[in-house]
Amino acid sequence: SSFQDFKLNKQLFNAIDDLGYQQPSEIQQKAIPLVLNGHDVIGIAQTGTGKTAAFVLPLLMKIKFAQGNDPRALILAPTRELVMQVYENILALGKYTDVRTVCLYGGIGPKKQAAEVAEGCDIIVSTPGRLLDIYKEGVLNAKLIKTFILDEADKMMDMGFMPQIRNILELLPMKKQNLFFSATFPDKVEKYAHEFTDFPEKVEV
Ligand code: AMP
Repeated sequence: SSFQDFKLNKQLFNAIDDLGYQQPSEIQQKAIPLVLNGHDVIGIAQTGTGKTAAFVLPLLMKIKFAQGNDPRALILAPTRELVMQVYENILALGKYTDVRTVCLYGGIGPKKQAAEVAEGCDIIVSTPGRLLDIYKEGVLNAKLIKTFILDEADKMMDMGFMPQIRNILELLPMKKQNLFFSATFPDKVEKYAHEFTDFPEKVEV
């Protein structure tokens, strides 16, 4: 299998080339076609499998950039470090696109981050708590979000973020694509996976 099979546009193909990725990893082979087809997806894959690019690449292929100021995609991750990692992946894979990505996390005052959101962006990568803080600042219209991604969902649960994630979901449109990624998939995670997705396709590596 090759990245050519996904009919990537040139901007993404060149970025993949720069990164030196030879071929899609197993989780990418399994997940990318499903995401491109619009399915909700439950992806079970550890860090190190290329799971971040498995959702970032199809997102970058689908999203319509610079259509206005309001974000089209929201990615939640449990910690500042994981938010930064996803953000770095988007910067690297999106380097030849004009995607505008903002990353939000706690530990610093919200004003600067709120100003970045107010300036306009296509993708937000955030921790759950900080997303709600920024929403309260009144700068975020979440009604145009078409893709919602939960990364490291099992860790989110362990950290007690589920009530906040439910609050965030209430801000988003009902009709959207939901991607749920988790390193492990015990029963309690499975229960949440089905709460946050509709008729999902499940892929596992
Ligand atoms: P992740 O599992 O998303 O944390 O990715 C682990 C590492 O694999 C990161 O350094 C990625 O840049 C890298 N990576 C992702 N996809 C590929 C690929 N198809 N070929 C080689 N490396 C990759």
